[in-house]
Amino acid sequence: MLLCGSAAQAQTAAPADGVGALLNRVEKLLVGGDPASFTPLMSTTAPAEPLQAFAGDLFIEGTTRAVVRERDRAPLDGTLPGDGYRLVVDFFTENARTSRILTARVDVRRAHRSEDEEDWRVAAAERLSSVDGLHRLAVNPAVQFTARNLSIEAEDMRLVLEEGSVFTVNSGDGITGLVLFGRGVMNFSPTPEAERGQVRIFSGNEALGARFDTAFVRLNPNEYDSRVTTGSLTPAAVDPRLLRRAQEVFAIEAPKSFSLDLQDLSRDTWYLVPGYGDFLAEVRTRKHGTLTYARATSEAEDVTLFDRAKHRNIALYASPQKLSSRGRFYDEDELADYDVLHNEIDATLTPEKEFIEGHARMRIRVRAYALTTLTLRLADPLTVRGVASLEHGRLLHLRVKNQNSVVINLPTAMPRDSEMTLVVAYSGRVPSQGVDREALQMSPQRAEDMPLVAPEPYYLLSNRAFWYPQGPVTDYATAVLRITVPDGYGCVASGELGAGSPVLMRDSTIPQGGKKLYVFTAVDPLRYLSVVVSRFVRVSSTSIPLVDGAGEVSRPALTADGRRAPGFRVRDRIALTVEANPRQQSRGRDMTPWASDIVQFYATLVGESPYPAIGLALVENDLPGGHSPGYFAVLNNPLPSSPFVWRNDPAAFPNFPEFFVAHELAHQWWGQAIGWKNYHEQWLSEGFAQYFAALYAQKAHGDEAFVDMLRQFRRWALAESDQGPINLGYRLGHIKGDSRVFRALIYNKGAGVLHMLRRFVGDEAFFNGLRRFYFDLKFQKAGTDDLQKAFEAETGRSLERFFERWIYGSMLPRLRYGSSVADGEVTVRFEQIGELLFDVPVTVTITYADGRSTDVVVAVSEREVVQKIPVEAAVRNVQINKDGAALASFDES
Ligand SMILES: [Zn+2]
Repeated sequence: MLLCGSAAQAQTAAPADGVGALLNRVEKLLVGGDPASFTPLMSTTAPAEPLQAFAGDLFIEGTTRAVVRERDRAPLDGTLPGDGYRLVVDFFTENARTSRILTARVDVRRAHRSEDEEDWRVAAAERLSSVDGLHRLAVNPAVQFTARNLSIEAEDMRLVLEEGSVFTVNSGDGITGLVLFGRGVMNFSPTPEAERGQVRIFSGNEALGARFDTAFVRLNPNEYDSRVTTGSLTPAAVDPRLLRRAQEVFAIEAPKSFSLDLQDLSRDTWYLVPGYGDFLAEVRTRKHGTLTYARATSEAEDVTLFDRAKHRNIALYASPQKLSSRGRFYDEDELADYDVLHNEIDATLTPEKEFIEGHARMRIRVRAYALTTLTLRLADPLTVRGVASLEHGRLLHLRVKNQNSVVINLPTAMPRDSEMTLVVAYSGRVPSQGVDREALQMSPQRAEDMPLVAPEPYYLLSNRAFWYPQGPVTDYATAVLRITVPDGYGCVASGELGAGSPVLMRDSTIPQGGKKLYVFTAVDPLRYLSVVVSRFVRVSSTSIPLVDGAGEVSRPALTADGRRAPGFRVRDRIALTVEANPRQQSRGRDMTPWASDIVQFYATLVGESPYPAIGLALVENDLPGGHSPGYFAVLNNPLPSSPFVWRNDPAAFPNFPEFFVAHELAHQWWGQAIGWKNYHEQWLSEGFAQYFAALYAQKAHGDEAFVDMLRQFRRWALAESDQGPINLGYRLGHIKGDSRVFRALIYNKGAGVLHMLRRFVGDEAFFNGLRRFYFDLKFQKAGTDDLQKAFEAETGRSLERFFERWIYGSMLPRLRYGSSVADGEVTVRFEQIGELLFDVPVTVTITYADGRSTDVVVAVSEREVVQKIPVEAAVRNVQINKDGAALASFDES
C-alpha cells in the first residue's frame, strides 16, 4: 500500500432491476445513519438479530454521502430461479473527514411475485472485509510556520530545512504530512556497506547530501514530535501565494503513496495514515530530481531510496530493528498465505493474436492461521470469467488495478493446513514475454546496416507473463498442462509430453485445418509454468541413458551421512526432444548430441537429473540467449543477417559453441530444482549454471577451453566488482541500467567464486558438498547460508570468512608475491595487501628447462604465506595465477 494507489475494480455494474432498486434504497437510508431504518428492508422470514447487528455495523452516524455498488451476483441456493441471489456489495460511506468501504455478502429474496411490482428483501448479510480509516487530507490553509534548522529524521535519513516555510497536513489524530519550502539538504547515509556502495554509484559519495528546495513528508501523527524538531518552527502569517504552491505540491506528491483511487465509489482521493514506524519523503533535489525515501515496516527490507524518474532502487535494505526480528536471512515464502500444491491448466493459445483462453485448477494448502481472502496473480489484461472452488462453490473475486492481482473472498475462514481446489476461468491478450532476470540475453551494439530477414515469431509465456493464476511468489507445484494451438504451430511446455500427444482435432468450421492439443505432465514440482509456441519442426526425440564413462549407471550420490532427499527417485533415462523453427533444423540436429552429452555429464556430477524430460526449443531472435524453465529450454539463435554484435559481453564465449545450451540446461538443476529464497540469492542459479557450462567446456574441449573461461570470469570480476557484492542480485548494474554488470558479477564472478571454493576445499569435498546441497534443498528455495552449511558439513570447518568476503563483500584481494629457486625447491611467498584477509587459492605454475610444467595450488588464507615446492629438474620459470582462477590482482615484489 505504501508506494502505489490501488483499488478494487468493479466487475459488474448493478443492473436496474428489483435488486438494484433495493440497493438504491439502502444507499439513500445510509445517509440518515440510523440502523433502525434498515428494518423494513429485512425479510420477515429471516432471523432478525444477525441482520440488526449487521445494520448496526453498516450505518454510521454523521454520514453525508453513501454509495452502494453490487459487485457480484449468483443464484441463491434453495430458491427458484430468479427468486433469490447471493450478492457481493460494496457499501461506501463518508463524512467531511473520513470514509469507509465495507464489503459484504448479501442474500436477497423476492418477497412476492407480481408482474409490475417487485418486493426484494435482505434475507442474510455478512461483512467480508472493510477498508477503514480513509481520510480526506489537505494542506491546512490557516497555518504556516517559519523554519530555522528544522530537522526531520527517519532511519539513516535526515532532512534539514536550514531556512524556509512549512505547511501542515492534519488527519483527525494530528499532523500526518508536511510541505517544506526553502533552503534544505537531504542526508541519506545507509548503514550497510553494500548500500553505501550503491549510493556512491548513484551520487559519487557513500553518503548522499542533496540540496533541495521543496519536500513533502508523510508520517504517523504519534511520531510527529519525535521525528520533527518542532522547536525550530515559529508560527507566521499565511502567505496566500506560498499556500497555493503548497497545495500544488500536495496535489502532485500526496496521491503517490498511502492513497486509494476508489473509482466508482468516490471521485475524491482518500488517504491512509501511515502506521507507526512508517515514513515517507518525496524530496525534490536540485541535482537528482525527485528522490523518494520510504520506511515500510511490513516489508522484509524496510528502508528504500528510490529514483522516481528513472524508476530505480538506489538503496533497499533491512533496518537493525527488522534484522533483529527476522534475522540476517529471509525467505520470500515466509509471508505467503498459502502454498500451491498442484496446477491443472487448460489453455487455448492463438499466437498471432497473443490471446489466451484459459481454465485453471489449483490445489492449495493454507499457511495463514485463518485465511478469509487470498490473492492470486494474473496478468491485468486477462478477464476473469469466474472463480469457484470444489469445496465452497462459486467465490467472490475482485480485480486489483495495475497489480496483476485477483482478490478472492472465501465464505468462511479456512484454518491452517486445510486444502482447497480453486477453479478460475479467464481469457484475454497477454504479450509474449521479453527479457528478464531469468533469461540470458546479451547487450547489443548495432553493427553495420545489413539486409534484415525477419526472425520467425514465437510466443513465450513464462515467469513474468502471469498467464495462469498463481501465488504472489513462485511456488513449487506439480502440474498438468493441456495446451491447444492452431494446426501449423507446435509447442514446448513445462512437463513431459504425453504419449500420443499432440492430438490433431479437425474443426469443420475452420477450412484451413484444425487445432492441436498437447498434454504435458510435470510429476516433479516446478517453480513456475511456461509454454512457448511457434512454427516448430520436430528435429529429434531420444532417450538419454544416464550412464557414466565407466559404463555404470550413475547413482545419485548420497550425502555423507547417507541421507536421500524426499521425493528422490532413481531415474536412469531422460527423454530429450528437440523442436526448431524451420530454418533452425540443422542447428537442432547438431544440438541433439550436445544436449545428450551435457545432460549425462551434469547428471554424473550431481548424482541425478531432476526432471524426467527435457524439451529444447530453438527459436530465432536478433540476439543469442536463452531461458530455461523446468522441463525445457528456449534457445535464441540469431540469423546470419542479425544487425547486432555482442562480442563485448561477459557471456560471449565465441570459442565455445555449446555455451548457451550448456548454460541453459544447467538451470534444470540450478535455478529450477534448486530455487532461490529472494533476489539476493540469484547467483545460486546463474553462477552455478555458468560454472557447470565451464565444466562442460573442459570436458568437451579440454583444459585450454576451461582456462579461457576462467580468465574471462576473472577479467569481468576485476572490472566490475566495485559495482557491489554478488548478493545484490538484480540490483547490480541496475542504477546505471547496464545489464552487463549483472552478468559480469552474478554469472562470471559467481562461477569464479565456486571454482575458488572447489580449490579451497578440494575436489572431493566440493562435489560431495554440491550434492549434499542439491539433495537437501531439492525442489525448495535455497540461500547462500544453506550452501555454506552444506560445505561446512562436508569439510568440518568454518567457511564463514570465505562467503563473507566473496558473496557479501565487493572488495577483491590484492596479493604481493615473490618466488625463488634453490636446492631442489621453489619457494613462493604471498602477502595480502589491504585491510581484509581473504581465502584465496592461487595456482603456481612451474615450467622446467625441458618445457614440461606442473601446477601447484597454494591456499592463501593468512596475511603472509610461504610455501616450498620440491622440484626434480632445472626450473625455467615460475608463474602465478596463469589460469586466472584466483579473482585477485597480483603485484610482483
Ligand atoms: Zn542463466
